[in-house]
Amino acid sequence: MNDAPSLLHAFTPRHVRVELPSGHRFPMTKYDLLAERLQAEGWRLTPSPSVSWERLAAVHEATYLAAVRGVALDARAERRLGFPQSPALVTRSLVSTGGTVAALERALERGLGVHLAGGTHHAFADRGEGFCVFNDLVVAARALQRRAPRILVVDLDVHQGNGTAELAHDDPDLVTYSVHGARNYPFQKARSDLDRALPDGVDDDGYLAVVASDVPRLLDQYAPTAVLYQGGVDVIDGDRFGRMALTIDGVAARDRLVADACAQRCIPLAYTLGGGYHRDVLVTVEAHRRGIEALHAAWLAAWPASAAPVTGVASQASDAC
Ligand SMILES: [Zn+2]
Repeated sequence: MNDAPSLLHAFTPRHVRVELPSGHRFPMTKYDLLAERLQAEGWRLTPSPSVSWERLAAVHEATYLAAVRGVALDARAERRLGFPQSPALVTRSLVSTGGTVAALERALERGLGVHLAGGTHHAFADRGEGFCVFNDLVVAARALQRRAPRILVVDLDVHQGNGTAELAHDDPDLVTYSVHGARNYPFQKARSDLDRALPDGVDDDGYLAVVASDVPRLLDQYAPTAVLYQGGVDVIDGDRFGRMALTIDGVAARDRLVADACAQRCIPLAYTLGGGYHRDVLVTVEAHRRGIEALHAAWLAAWPASAAPVTGVASQASDAC
């Protein structure tokens, strides 16, 4: 039976709404616009489930979790986070994290899992930063550690995945790779297993050369059970918070490259959205959409029509996943 059409599926947290003050820098509308766009193209969307506080406690400190849960972060912590606290923000953060756990679970079952949110890579054990409350990537990796004992985080957001790098620092089975702008936030970088700090203004060719050389090599070197992908599109020319100059075609090529490298090795891939702050939110949405479609196309190409259900894909050594 051909399992491929069921890959046209994504989790979305849009059922939990957060109202930000007017003029707030964060593009909350991109999540709904992207979900609507994919749905119109035939994607089946499932509401992202909430993550449990127990699963969060495997990554975040109890005092931080209590402060978030009680809407009781102090003023400094709230400023660092970049969002005004509210009960809705707490609920949204729970589904934004739970959706990534669900996407990884789905990837382990079917090869590809897509979350139309997440990639909150600036969250640390004891604090949130830069619009990131919980670190969904590390929470997902810990939650599914038994089924996916070795995870590679591929973080291609324009900003370094500092929280992820620090949380994974002492864990040889959670490998972190980050390509980011050298002069972008965070100004003090953490240490990933492999960091590529690129100069301002880097274009499609310069950027893709790095990713094309690194990703296949990392997959061969670490042979991860699964890849958690942070596919931020704030690398695009004109992004308000980025300093790079990629095109939308460049982003689609980047995402295709990552997906092909995984699919060709039968390594399950879970995708998270990450950043994207273009002056025109429709450019951000289009870049995400093109990237997600590139992932899907890569999986279709790797999926033979006769493929059996793919539980345990990574352990199968044939050219069919
Ligand atoms: Zn970013």
